[in-house]
Amino acid sequence: MPQTRHRIRRPRRTGAFVGITALALGITATASAGMGSRTPTAAGPVASTTESALAPCRISGTMGVQMSEGMPTPPGYSRSTGEVRALNLMIDFPDAKGEGTALDRLAEFFPQTSDWFRTSSYGRLTYHPEAPVRTWLRMPMPFAAYGIERGSPYEPGYRQLVEHIVKAADAEVDFSRYDLVNILVTPNAGPSALDTVLSVTFSGNAEAPVADGVPLANTSFVYSRQDDGSGTYRETGYRVLPHENGHVFGLPDLYTADGGATVGHWDIMSEDWGANNDLLGWHKWKLGWLDSTQISCASKSGTSTHVLSPLGTEGGVKLAFVPLSANTGYAVEVRTQTGNDEAVCKPGVLVYKVDSAVDTGQGPVIVADSTSASGGCTRRSNVHAELSDAPFQPGETFTDEQAGVTVKVIARLANGSYQVRITRP
Ligand SMILES: [Zn+2]
Repeated sequence: MPQTRHRIRRPRRTGAFVGITALALGITATASAGMGSRTPTAAGPVASTTESALAPCRISGTMGVQMSEGMPTPPGYSRSTGEVRALNLMIDFPDAKGEGTALDRLAEFFPQTSDWFRTSSYGRLTYHPEAPVRTWLRMPMPFAAYGIERGSPYEPGYRQLVEHIVKAADAEVDFSRYDLVNILVTPNAGPSALDTVLSVTFSGNAEAPVADGVPLANTSFVYSRQDDGSGTYRETGYRVLPHENGHVFGLPDLYTADGGATVGHWDIMSEDWGANNDLLGWHKWKLGWLDSTQISCASKSGTSTHVLSPLGTEGGVKLAFVPLSANTGYAVEVRTQTGNDEAVCKPGVLVYKVDSAVDTGQGPVIVADSTSASGGCTRRSNVHAELSDAPFQPGETFTDEQAGVTVKVIARLANGSYQVRITRP
């Protein structure tokens, strides 16, 4: 049934652009293989002997892909488990002076962002937002003078901005104490997010300006307000920050030039407007939030049975993975309206293909829709409708004839887990 909904056509974010010039410098909007982060621990799971049994499922990154779904996440990104210290700096400009206090701006993102990470990581990431400077940091030049637009590379505008931020804050801030930096820009600088989303993250960027002996290698910039006018800004407006911080932990953008049509609302790296959502199980494994016992690797030919508990609840096996090649495979998980998954209108078994040879913003993950062209089951604004009813139900089977893979949902068990049967060559 066709639905009429207020929907914002999400502009492609700067973070998706990877420029050749930037690559030559080892600096990109969302990634580089940059070394030299102050944090010796890379994002991702801690290696253990049991991990070796999962080796076929840990599809690796590919040469030439700047920010991939491969494992392990290369060094240079922020740690994604344990205690993560985030430095928050609120900035304004002579021509865009902060309206309200800097702490009001901070309060648009906290404590929700910390709560979001605690819930999504099952308590494995403890996010400490710190704001040692309690007032707006005034930049020396007007906003326009930095030349920041959607798609702007790091050089020269962002480098200059970061240099000015460091200069303004250095007396009060020890930059070496932090794993990542959030620059919360006064919302009246630059265009409305309804027109252009400027928010961007430069991650793994060892070429960034140095302060207190460390490069500001993992820095997220948040502009404007992602307010769709539906009255939910206070509940949902913070969600741009967990998205941007996803990049500092090494996650790629899942939306493409066509918007959220490949992953829908099943991951905050796909859609960060509107109702709350979680990350895909693949991302949780990549970030070290699932351990080896929670992954079921279907690498052997033939048929195997897997019992998966809902991704939003703590404990149990969360992800079955069917490796198809060195770079691709199918992931299988159970999504229900639990944890950060607020907008799930049809619980069930989500099946998606992961391709580590596809770069950020180009569609590295594609969700299989059990009911294609249905129009979906959601009426929430800013939730991609078509894929909202993508999960498979008991009795239904996902089939990739070319790959010879089937995923049959056998049953929903009394405890809420789902039993699936995977057949592969
Ligand atoms: Zn992004």
